[in-house]
Amino acid sequence: MTLSSTLTTLDQLPPACDNIQFNYCKTVACVNFSRTDPQLYVLQNSNLQRPVLICRECGAFPPVLSNHDVIAEKQRLTLEQNSGLAACSNDTCPYNGFPVLTYRQFYHAFGFSGERQRYRCKACQHTFVDPWSNSNNKHQLQQKLLAYLFTGHTVREICRRLAMNPKTFYDQLNNIAARCRRQLTIFDARLGKQSHSHHLATDFTPLQPNSNNGVLWIATAEADSGYVISQHVNYQTQAAASYVDHHDAYQVDTRFIAPHSYHHPHDQPTTSQGLLAHIDATYRQILARKNMENPLSGEVTINYPTKGCLIRPQYTVYGHFLYLRELLNPSIASFAVFMPQETLLRSACLSVFIDRINNHTIDPLYVVEDNNWQHGQQVAKIDIVLMGWWRDRWAFSRNNSGNKGICHLGGNKKQQQHWLTIATHQAATVYQQRFHDQFSHMVNEPRRKLRPASLLPLLDIYRAWHNLCHQNKAGLTPAQALGLMSSPMTLEQLLQ
Ligand SMILES: [Zn+2]
Ligand SMILES: [Zn+2]
Repeated sequence: MTLSSTLTTLDQLPPACDNIQFNYCKTVACVNFSRTDPQLYVLQNSNLQRPVLICRECGAFPPVLSNHDVIAEKQRLTLEQNSGLAACSNDTCPYNGFPVLTYRQFYHAFGFSGERQRYRCKACQHTFVDPWSNSNNKHQLQQKLLAYLFTGHTVREICRRLAMNPKTFYDQLNNIAARCRRQLTIFDARLGKQSHSHHLATDFTPLQPNSNNGVLWIATAEADSGYVISQHVNYQTQAAASYVDHHDAYQVDTRFIAPHSYHHPHDQPTTSQGLLAHIDATYRQILARKNMENPLSGEVTINYPTKGCLIRPQYTVYGHFLYLRELLNPSIASFAVFMPQETLLRSACLSVFIDRINNHTIDPLYVVEDNNWQHGQQVAKIDIVLMGWWRDRWAFSRNNSGNKGICHLGGNKKQQQHWLTIATHQAATVYQQRFHDQFSHMVNEPRRKLRPASLLPLLDIYRAWHNLCHQNKAGLTPAQALGLMSSPMTLEQLLQ
């Protein structure tokens, strides 16, 4: 499917997919907000330097994206989470890839194969065994391996101590990661059944901060317990079948970035004085991107990974929020999302939860605070400042010589004091920082800089350990704090 790119004006938005159309004005206060009639916009596709879509009402120019590719990316994220779990493997079956763990109603138990449980698919009658249904005879070895890994030993040291070769090490690591995904699937599904409101914290950071390899990592946690609900990276281990040179939302598979490195000479992060100046500088940086929703289209260096394929981050981030929407109980009356100041996070969250934005049943907020801000204290004086090209309405306050600003992205001007007191995305931020600290030897190892694939199993293992095993000062794991389990899991239980 390609539409002629020689047209100077277009009369259609990029085609909808599964009834989803993400291309429209994203200015909440504009009458065209969320409206998908192409007549409301100026559409042009002839000049790559100019925006494709301009709102005739407010003049905003939200980047367009391929709805097809967002859905395809969401499917990739789901498949990765379910990979290794027992599920119908018949490509032509409607239940293909739906794990027995969470879709028991799709399958019959169908005897045993040796010690392992066999299932039959109700739709296509295909049978398969659950690879995890017998006991793990490698759990002692795997426990030792994890203990070494979590205490900062290098892969080489672990291989020497356990007398294994690197290939065996990575096979074991992948096996452990699959076990961790299986455990997480059980607890994520329990979280997904809860119907009380949540505060969510989202953050977004390079997976390997010193490598400039273009791999970005998004994580969303339940803000109060710290339970990490989902995390995704804009990288896949297989190369894409084909690449397009420039992002073109009217073409299928435009989400893949062609293997190509480029160097930008001024990669200095801006250091600005004060919170207001910092927020202002961030808005300028975002406006300077070729595509405001793609942080990799700014003035950045990319050393393309040696294997696999980078994905334009906007597709992974929209996919991430779609994944969350599918996981969370739709009957939750209302919930909040706290995030750093980043247009991509704002656009993806607003677009995916557009119905909730229109019904005022979601509170998406930018939260920016400096180190001295003392969390949880009531705030006294509040200053309102309109900022950025969009004239976003920020509320600022100050305590303990620290400053904090919040901006309600759904346009709600009430409860500023409440949000200034409670809103924070620290749960996601600290989780990511701890991963970088805990595994710094692997994250920063020079030979691994262009090989992000070897970190992917570690992400699953870390999320399982963080949610299910790691106890806070009060002795509770995040899963306990959310009421998903009654006692912490030991490493041994995690690996069973
Ligand atoms: Zn508009
Ligand atoms: Zn089937």
